[in-house]
Amino acid sequence: MRLSELKGIGPKTEELFSKIGVNSVEELKEYYPVHYDSYTEPENIEDCRAGSKCAISVTVTDPVSMYKAGKLTIISLDVRDSTGKIRLVWYNSPFIRSVVKRGSSYVFRGNIVSKKGSLVMEHPEIFKPEQYQSKLSTLNPVYGLTKGLTNNTVVKAIHSAFEATGDVPEYLPEQIAKALDLMGEETAVSYIHFPPDQDSLVRARSRLAFDEFFLFILALRMLRQEEGDKASGFRIPETWLTEDVIERLPFRLTKGQMNVWREIEQDLSSGRRMSRLVQGDVGSGKTILAFLAMIMTASSGYQSVLMAPTEVLARQHYEKLANMCREQGLDTVRPVLLTGTLTAAERRATLEEIESGLANAIVGTHALIQSSVKYRNPALIITDEQHRFGVYQRQALAERDCPPHMLVMSATPIPRTLGVIFYGDLDISILDELPARRLPIKNCVVDPSWRPNAMKFIKREVDAGHQAYIVCPMIEPAEGLQAENVTEYTAKLKKLFPNIAIGSLHGRMKASEKNTVMQDFADGKISILVSTTVIEVGVDVPNATVMMIENAERFGLATLHQLRGRVGRSDLQSYCIFMAGVQSEDISRRLDILNHSNNGFEIAEKDFELRGPGDLLGIRQSGDAAFRIADISRDRDILKAAGELAAAVMHDDPALILEENDLLRVKMREYMHSDVRTIVL
Ligand code: ADP
Ligand code: MG
Repeated sequence: MRLSELKGIGPKTEELFSKIGVNSVEELKEYYPVHYDSYTEPENIEDCRAGSKCAISVTVTDPVSMYKAGKLTIISLDVRDSTGKIRLVWYNSPFIRSVVKRGSSYVFRGNIVSKKGSLVMEHPEIFKPEQYQSKLSTLNPVYGLTKGLTNNTVVKAIHSAFEATGDVPEYLPEQIAKALDLMGEETAVSYIHFPPDQDSLVRARSRLAFDEFFLFILALRMLRQEEGDKASGFRIPETWLTEDVIERLPFRLTKGQMNVWREIEQDLSSGRRMSRLVQGDVGSGKTILAFLAMIMTASSGYQSVLMAPTEVLARQHYEKLANMCREQGLDTVRPVLLTGTLTAAERRATLEEIESGLANAIVGTHALIQSSVKYRNPALIITDEQHRFGVYQRQALAERDCPPHMLVMSATPIPRTLGVIFYGDLDISILDELPARRLPIKNCVVDPSWRPNAMKFIKREVDAGHQAYIVCPMIEPAEGLQAENVTEYTAKLKKLFPNIAIGSLHGRMKASEKNTVMQDFADGKISILVSTTVIEVGVDVPNATVMMIENAERFGLATLHQLRGRVGRSDLQSYCIFMAGVQSEDISRRLDILNHSNNGFEIAEKDFELRGPGDLLGIRQSGDAAFRIADISRDRDILKAAGELAAAVMHDDPALILEENDLLRVKMREYMHSDVRTIVL
């Protein structure tokens, strides 16, 4: 259903929505809040801290004053309670003078900032005390926005979306939903937007996490069943060629890499079909293993396919592979790149090469699994950094007589017991050491007052010929969200460092623009790259030695760890600066975990312990994650339940033909055909 069919949404608003990746009513309902704003009990003025949002309850005694500063009209008002005094300011809002009356009591709520040493509350919302009382402890959704689109518009649109779509029937058989004590799906979707209370939100979240796990696991199981057992697979004999390639690498493979490579080599040559997950922390060197497997496959005359979750990463893999083949004179390996940004002519030529078998090492994004791509003899499919590909890729190739070998590479740490739930009989290889000569990344957690030092530090690294990443949570300024954004940050930085080449990158840029920026950064033409989390996965620029993450408190620890993995990729000393925009004990305790550990799995575990099941920060802000709501480590109980249910369904009704599974069958069909969607704030 089109958005413009909703009440109050015209073509302009529709276009704004399409900027945030929402193109239909169904997608709108799935556009989950990034967090919730809650109205808490007013605080004493002395307890208000810079960087936080506070409410205070006061009686106004001073007059409201108004003055001009350049183009700005500033309204200011000093208020006090028994514990202290604070100044409230509003900009360009002269009407405030007639709203706030001397002698009356109000609750003011706004962000506290520090100005010239004293605290100021900026643009506070104004409530009568009884009005505020009724708002207390409600949870209000805050959405990712774009310029021109207000939170209020999104809220209204979502309300109309629910009205317009009516009741969607529950797809899980009733006894099952009851036995598992699951909230209804439709209720869960509506509560995730508009939770009546904290408890309902927790339950809604659990239900949606359950769905994500359950559908994913069931899809994998069904595909495996279609593919039949592992008995037959392409037999790809071992070859000296790969040994030579290993010899000629500019580095020596680590023992871990060598072991995993032997496992892969054995799988490929065994005549049985490989299903292997290679799990290794960021920077452990997984890519070279993929390349070796592709070279081995090509030398037997078969095709291999390497899929990456982003254009940027696909292109980078392709260039590396192509360079390696050129440098080492590997003429049996003929790499091509297939992504969404090729011109029509390039695309046609590439498709022909793939169909004829001329191209045999095929690298790309999920453009690779469109039906227009006709492979000649694909014997190996590798997916990098993206679990969901697992489903689509296998489906696209499932109908073949001889299903290809499958290799999945992931930096997401999953303990073996949980990995088995996902992948059943999948073999797991673990790369548990980083290449030698790597110096551990030096980390620090700082507050914004340290930013000038950070800038000096970054400049020093750049002057020394190295490069830096700066990550901001948002693309552009947005109403109601106090966080750094790429657009303004880049402009500020260009002013600060007029002689340094500064670039910016975010998910809403055209793919071709992203490629150019990333290529320039890789070539050293850009020294400082200001980016959103689009650089989270896979990107490898070894000369980058500093990463500074703004508003680090807004990201999950797993994301921060992945981000940090973009530095420390060579023998240069690297640094990661976590800038906490908001100070609180909880936040410093969480960030401190990163300070003390460079081990992805340990970090995920500790994060889970600290956050506890009641905490809702777990709603993902970046679409690169395999699941949007579910979190493998914190939702492990839900994962287990979903795994058991999927196993039961496969046992009792593997083809989903029983009447009670009618709706589940429809749901599965939709799920298997839906596109991989990425939402980048
Ligand atoms: P990830 O496991 O995160 O995908 P990459 O495969 O991108 O890591 O490798 C990170 C960097 O380390 C790359 O620049 C790669 O060339 C380099 N590298 C890989 N293996 C080794 C090794 N054994 N010794 C030194 N450098 C290595
Ligand atoms: Mg990688």
